[in-house]
Amino acid sequence: MQGSTDNSNLSSPSSGQKRQGKFRKVSLAILMGSLLFTGTGFAKEGLRDQYHVYEDGEYIGTVKSPEVVDHAVDEKKAEAEAAHEDLELVVGRELSVVKEKVFGSNDSADEESVKEMMDEALTVEAKSLAVQVGGDTLFHLKDAEAFNRVIRGVKLTHMTEEELAAYEAAQEAGEFPEPEAGKTQVTHLSLKADLQAKEVYTAPENIKTDEDALALLLSGKPVERDYTAEEGDTPETVAKSHGMSVERLQELNDGMGGQTELDAGSTVKVLVEEPYVEVSVTRKQREASPIAHQKVTKNDRSILKGEKKVARSGKDGRKEKLSVTETVNGEKVSEKVLEDEVVEEPVDELILNGTKVVQGAATGQFAWPAQGGYISSKKGPRWGRQHNGIDIARPSGEAILAADAGTVTETGPLGGFGNRVVVDHGNGYTTLYAHLESISVKPGQKLAQGQKLGVMGNTGNSTGVHLHFEVRKNGQLIDPLTVVSK
Ligand SMILES: [Zn+2]
Repeated sequence: MQGSTDNSNLSSPSSGQKRQGKFRKVSLAILMGSLLFTGTGFAKEGLRDQYHVYEDGEYIGTVKSPEVVDHAVDEKKAEAEAAHEDLELVVGRELSVVKEKVFGSNDSADEESVKEMMDEALTVEAKSLAVQVGGDTLFHLKDAEAFNRVIRGVKLTHMTEEELAAYEAAQEAGEFPEPEAGKTQVTHLSLKADLQAKEVYTAPENIKTDEDALALLLSGKPVERDYTAEEGDTPETVAKSHGMSVERLQELNDGMGGQTELDAGSTVKVLVEEPYVEVSVTRKQREASPIAHQKVTKNDRSILKGEKKVARSGKDGRKEKLSVTETVNGEKVSEKVLEDEVVEEPVDELILNGTKVVQGAATGQFAWPAQGGYISSKKGPRWGRQHNGIDIARPSGEAILAADAGTVTETGPLGGFGNRVVVDHGNGYTTLYAHLESISVKPGQKLAQGQKLGVMGNTGNSTGVHLHFEVRKNGQLIDPLTVVSK
């Protein structure tokens, strides 16, 4: 236990031969007493035995039978065992009995008082493991097993159960596996402690629970250290920052008594808590992190305008970093990166954006049917009648344009429409363009979106040059403004 141990197994104290004598039972002492008299020349006639009882060598009294002593011991032991079931107890270790042969009648007048004195003298003690630092007992534990549990507790303040189990398994196998992505592998664990453990008897109350012993071990011991004063330090600030009282600081530093300020750079003795056990852990860890994929859009002339196609779906890449870190009592003291690499390149998502314009093939999205202009009238009730489309007037150019690709189905004058063109877009939609000055397409002709089909005019029932524009979906009139906007 003393000094450094290279691995986690602190050896438990061995049960030496030396303590054998200390644990000797009372009955053995009686046997020794009786041996003294075996084979001596006393005549049995008229002789009787009596027993002198001593506590730590001091005479208490005399009883006529060793059973009196045994009985007192047994009674006290039974009582103590009921209170401390889990402990190995010993009672009356300090008692010794010496047998003597005497003549005369049995005078046992003071036997009762001897019993009482004995009962008082009998101490209950438990076998324990004293854990010591520099000869001072830090705490008592029940046994070496408890000590090992406490040491395990120390380890577990610096790593998870899972890590410790994996470390122990690897140690046993004599091989440390490389950590998987996102995992760690402890490759070295050492505990340094200047502790001694000794088997001793103690009062049962002195024996600490594992939890209390662990807390004591972790709390640390005050150690004297030099502190270099900084500009503006006072005895108060230094005491406070080290969790000490000013009085204690002055005691440690002779001659500080009257000082209110400390010279910068001067050395001050302070107490710092140093844990009783120094735990150093070396870990290998493999961290995995994703590399985000990008979205790439490319124009494609083989795909119809308005259509998009995912040519390749994207996938995130992955990079991994393998590093070794060493911590001492939880503080990182070193880190080394062994590998840092991309293990999987990201795959960008590729989207093809169609640019192909085909006459007659609708894009599904309408374009403004004039060259600019403004909406002079919307669809809805007007002058006591229903206005079936929108009117667009005062454009910047005169061309009337196909709102989407399609096939011309009707051209020419029709009642109040004047010259009109109807285009079937092949996807359930048809559009109508009215009041045209002239028409430049023929029925059956396929048109691309935006293709000129005539010139804006004032034919039919019209009060000025404008375009009357209607949209039908599956034969039903709809408001053109729900599908086009300027
Ligand atoms: Zn109109």
